[in-house]
This record gives sequence, C-alpha cells and structure tokens, in this order.
Amino acid sequence: MPKDVKIKYTQLFINNEFVDSINGKKFASINPATEEKIIDVSEADKADVDLAVRAARNAFKRNSEWRQMDASKRGVLLQKLASLLERDSEYLADLESLDNGKPVADSAFDILCAVDTFKYYAGMADKISGKHVPSDYGFFTITRLEPVGVVGQIIPWNYPILMLAWKWGPALAAGCTIVLKPSELTPLTALYVAQLSKEAGFPPGVINVVPGYGPTAGTAIALHPDINKVAFTGSVEVGRLIMENASKSNLKRISLELGGKSPLIICNDADVDEAVEIAHNAIFANHGQNCCAGSRTFVQSKIYNEFIQKAAAKAKERKLGDPFVEGTQQGPQVNDKMFNKVLRLINSGKSEGAKCLTGGERWGSKGYFVQPTVFADVQDSMTIAKEEIFGPVQSIFKFETLEEVIERANNTQYGLASGIVTKDINTAFTFAKAIEAGSVWINCYDAVIPQAPFGGFKQSGIGRELGEDSIKEYTEMKTITMKISDVK
Ligand code: NAD
Ligand code: MN
Repeated sequence: MPKDVKIKYTQLFINNEFVDSINGKKFASINPATEEKIIDVSEADKADVDLAVRAARNAFKRNSEWRQMDASKRGVLLQKLASLLERDSEYLADLESLDNGKPVADSAFDILCAVDTFKYYAGMADKISGKHVPSDYGFFTITRLEPVGVVGQIIPWNYPILMLAWKWGPALAAGCTIVLKPSELTPLTALYVAQLSKEAGFPPGVINVVPGYGPTAGTAIALHPDINKVAFTGSVEVGRLIMENASKSNLKRISLELGGKSPLIICNDADVDEAVEIAHNAIFANHGQNCCAGSRTFVQSKIYNEFIQKAAAKAKERKLGDPFVEGTQQGPQVNDKMFNKVLRLINSGKSEGAKCLTGGERWGSKGYFVQPTVFADVQDSMTIAKEEIFGPVQSIFKFETLEEVIERANNTQYGLASGIVTKDINTAFTFAKAIEAGSVWINCYDAVIPQAPFGGFKQSGIGRELGEDSIKEYTEMKTITMKISDVK
C-alpha cells in the first residue's frame, strides 16, 4: 500500500509564486509501484517557459537585488536551503519515493547527498575568482568570473532531487538565475524544493520551476533566445537535440551529462566476495537507473567461475517490493516505457546467447518491477554489451589480460565512469591512465562526491558537474586591462 503522502504543490513556480499554466493544461504523475495516478500537475508549454524566462531575466538585471547581493550572502541563502532540506528530509524522501518508486532509504540518501551539495556550493559562493595576469607592455590585467546569466536546466527522473541540487548549487553560487524543468515522470519534489528556496529567501525570479514534457517545454528552453546556457542530464538522443537547438537559436552554452556503458574490471588478485559486492552495488543501485552504473562487469579468467556463481546468488537475495516497506532494496522501474525497454534488452541477451544465471523476467504482476538479472558469458558484440539498459541487469564478461580488457573497455561510444578491483597498485594506475572515462574508481564504485568533478568523455557528455570545475559551466570570463601611466 502506498503511504498517504500529502502533496502541497502542483503548479508552476514562477517569480516565487505557484501559478497555473497559461492554457490550463495538466498532466498526471504516476506512482510506478502501483501504476496509479498520484495527482495532476500543471503542464508548462512554450508560453509558460517564456514567462519563467522573463522572470529570471528580470531577476538578473544589473540593479536587481540578486545582482547586487554580496557573494557571501548567496552562500548564506544556499546554506539555508540546505538546512530546510534537512528539516523536511523525511517528508521529501516519502514524496520522492512515491513519484519515482525508489525505496525510501534510497531517497533519504539522495537527499543527504543533495544537502551536502548545497553546503559545498554555499562555501563556494564567495570563492569564485579570476586572477591577476602579468601582461606585457606594462598593462595591468585581471580576469573576473561573472555569472553566465539565465540558465535553463533540464533534469531526468532517476535522481530528481539530487540532479536539482547538482544544477542549482553551482548556478546559484555563481549568481545565475534559473528556469528548471524537472522530468514529467517525477515533478513533485522539485516543486516542494522550489517553495523551500522561497522560504530560504531567494528573491523572486531567481529560481523558476516549469514541469512539462520534453518536446514542448524542453524544446522551448533549448531554443529560447534569452536563455544564456542550458544544462542537461538525460539520454544521448535528447542531448543531441539540445546541442542542435542551442546552435539553431542563440549559441547558448551547453553542458550535457548523458549516460554510459561503464566498465568495472575485476582482477584475479581481488578478494572475490568483496568484488562481488562492489560489482553488485555498481549495477543494481537505483534499479540500474544510474548514468554511471557499472553495466559491464569484466572478470579475469582465474576467478571467473567463482565470481559468476556468487554474483548470481547475491542478485537472487535482493529484496524487491513496496518502496515504503523497510528493508526493500529495489522498487519498480520508473515507468512502462523503461520497464518494456529493460525486458526487451533482457530478451535480446537471451536470444543472442548470453547465459542468464538468475532473473530475466518481470517480478510480480503489478507495478513496473523487473527481477534482478545476471547474464554471464556476455560477448562484446551482443546488444546488451553495447546499449545502455538502465535496468537491474548485470552483464559479466570474461577477460585474460589487462591490455586486452583496457581495449575492450574503451571500445564504446560512452565514457562516463569506470572501476577496477585489484590489490596491485601498478595495475590500478595503468588502468586509470588508459581508460577513456570521466571517473575511475579503484576498489570502490559510485563514489560521487560534491568536491570532485563528474562528467563524461566521448558521447557521455560535455562539461563537468560538481567540484570547482562546475563553476566554469555557469560563468563567463571577462578580461579587464588598464593602462597605467606611472607617476614619475
Ligand atoms: P530523456 O533524455 O528523454 O529525458 C530527460 C529529460 O529531458 C526529461 O526532463 C525530459 O522531459 C527532457 N526531454 C525529453 N525530450 C526533450 C527534448 N526534445 N528537448 C528538451 N528536453 C527534452 O530520457 P528518458 O526518455 O527519460 O530515458 C531514456 C534513456 O535516457 C534511458 O534509458 C537512459 O539510457 C538515458 N537516461 C540517462 C540519464 C542520466 O542520468 N544520464 C537519466 C535518464 C535517462
Ligand atoms: Mn511519477
């Protein structure tokens, strides 16, 4: 039974007010554990995006409260927002789980990470600086980092609050104003956090939230002539459209974070039980709906047989069910489309000859649940070795040498993350240097932390989120040069 979670906000959030969409349209948000409607939410279209952008532009004007605010005060507001998230974290975790389907403990962890992200950027706000440049010819030159302006942010459904925090933290620290479009599958928590931002004291127009669909509201953001930058997380396919629309309109800056097919290498010298655990969490966390999921597990030949038996046993133990029941480790996939995609790819694995050790079917008869599935003897040419599944499906490959596995690991269009489990420091660093991926985790996985940059090589994206480097994505650099006539 879904918990009775009271929902307070379902309208668009523009200029610090909740408003209906201009054409009055609404769409239903679904609970994926029951396939039932939770509530109707106002649906933004182009005209609403225009309004939100106008509010954000107004808030960004030269003499606005926001632009005149000391950077340290922006930090104080971010710190307050973090505290409000902490205050309401139990409620927010319930709301997130209701809309997304992930276990409440997972939602609570996401919120903790969002709080850490806001705190990190609270401290960053007054440390964003340029430098003095020792110019030739006696000029005095400094650089300034200035907020890029009005930013559009389009986020996915897999980590709704956390992706919001990754986008808002650096944008607000840098002094930008925001029009955020949450995923149409999970719009509820973003609206609640919008209200918290008002309570924290962000001036009207600094933060605007416009729930709606990709082809309408999303496209309006990407094409908008008065948005200076779009930050996007989601599929490669939509990432291409964002880039195309940015190019077609005003050459707005873009940053893209787009999935992966990340390799995790388990070497002969690994402790097998520990490696099984790392690899299990790397793929099954968040039901496999994780952009940096360790979705290709390469295991060295000497320990291969032991590893696949233990990996299958571990997957079999995974507890599926109601996200609101304590101890549940896996809820439903987010919607029917993703559920069907995962089952289609599982079937392709079976028909292309991978060995299905456990799972491989729907779980239960209601809700979009998929059995934790483990395939062994996966070949690089199979569909499951190449396509992002975004589901609870572990694919295990056998390898012999480090040289061979590096080449196979890099043989993909993606390059978001990677991992290696070994006791040999030279093996670990040879791999770390050779792998084409934005993150390398050694003897761990998914260690995503606010202080460290995160992002993709190749078609996994453009730009970096988190850490100091994310500030580059939300600032323009200005060079100021002065001629000094020395007083003799
Ligand atoms: P998606 O890319 O369609 O959705 C992500 C966001 O983009 C949503 O807010 C959506 O409304 C918006 N969007 C969709 N079409 C748009 C358009 N034309 N213009 C602007 N915005 C648009 O992703 P999806 O359909 O939910 O999932 C499909 C696949 O994407 C998944 O199977 C997975 O492989 C990948 N994915 C990756 C991530 C990630 O974290 N990198 C997150 C979600 C999905
Ligand atoms: Mn939903």
